[in-house]
Amino acid sequence: MHNFNSGPSILPKEVFQQASEAVLNYNNSSLSILEIGHRTPMFESILHEAQSLVKELMALDNNKQVLFLHGGASTQFFQIPMNLLDEKAMAAYLDCGTWGTKAIKEAKLFGKVDVVASSKDRNYSYIPKDYQVPDNAVYFHYTTNNTIEGTQMHAIPETNVPLVADMSSDILSMSLDFNRFSLIYAGAQKNIGAAGVNIVIVDEAMLGKVSRPLPSMMDYREHIKNGSMLNTPPVFAVFVCMLTLRWLKAKGGIAGMEGINRKKAALVYDTLDSLPLFQAPVAKEDRSLMNVVFRIDDPVLEKEFQQICRDNNMYGFTGHRSVGGFRLSLYNALPYESVVAVTDLMKDFAKKKG
Ligand SMILES: *Cc1c(COP(=O)(O)O)cnc(C)c1O
Repeated sequence: MHNFNSGPSILPKEVFQQASEAVLNYNNSSLSILEIGHRTPMFESILHEAQSLVKELMALDNNKQVLFLHGGASTQFFQIPMNLLDEKAMAAYLDCGTWGTKAIKEAKLFGKVDVVASSKDRNYSYIPKDYQVPDNAVYFHYTTNNTIEGTQMHAIPETNVPLVADMSSDILSMSLDFNRFSLIYAGAQKNIGAAGVNIVIVDEAMLGKVSRPLPSMMDYREHIKNGSMLNTPPVFAVFVCMLTLRWLKAKGGIAGMEGINRKKAALVYDTLDSLPLFQAPVAKEDRSLMNVVFRIDDPVLEKEFQQICRDNNMYGFTGHRSVGGFRLSLYNALPYESVVAVTDLMKDFAKKKG
């Protein structure tokens, strides 16, 4: 099976193996990972290892706190402005797709939002480049990789305003200076682990500046104070993250992943560019290394190619329900062989139909 799902998505085979063993007998304890207390040394060591692997792999400074929180990336859309944006203050947002649009909608509930640029005019098929982030913005929010539209920011924008980034679909996939960000968040289910947990990396200096009272569960400072165990964390989801992080480290860390990810993406895009039967709508310089979107103009041929993919054990290759067409997600755990397999099908199909 070749799994191109966009999320929840493919994880390393080793991780599935280790996770299933732990469900039956965690670390020879005769207990399942699902029945241990979260305030036991067993779970504490899992959480601490996961936190320190994130710090190590992303080379984070000591002022960065790593939290594992509930609620999906969508909860961060409102938890961030709740913690950082006062009612009279303003935050700048870049509008590059479905997820960014949702983040903007939620931020407006808490303060002023300045949408500095949008690529909506061309169906989010590119990343806007000429914009200014106003100096008085409390933070500048953007989505590093637009999972649905298939665009990606390949460089960190030049601004002195603190950066907040939704990295749900490209965290740990390529090297970046992660210390440039004041807050990074990512739902785990795309590139890190199982659904049910978010990674939030926050610079403590950003916190405690808003005047509104915060419910404890929404207050990052409470989570930091309690070592990311303010309440019961999603124990199993954190464990799967920890296993994937270990796997990633053994594979050469983020730099190792980036090398393979660039090879995978190059093969798909080179194939698309060489076959006029397929249309890739995204501006070349903004193409995502993680989610490749394309179409076949003729709906009959499109259906036919979908069937061929299914017949050849391809899974999760259709575009998001809002855009249609095809989408191949090439996350860290997707082997190069899967990309070879699908591009071979594309070449065969184009030869027959061209
Ligand atoms: C999937 C995704 C989300 C939403 O994640 P949930 O965990 O389902 O809330 C947000 N942002 C991006 C970039 C995503 O890819």
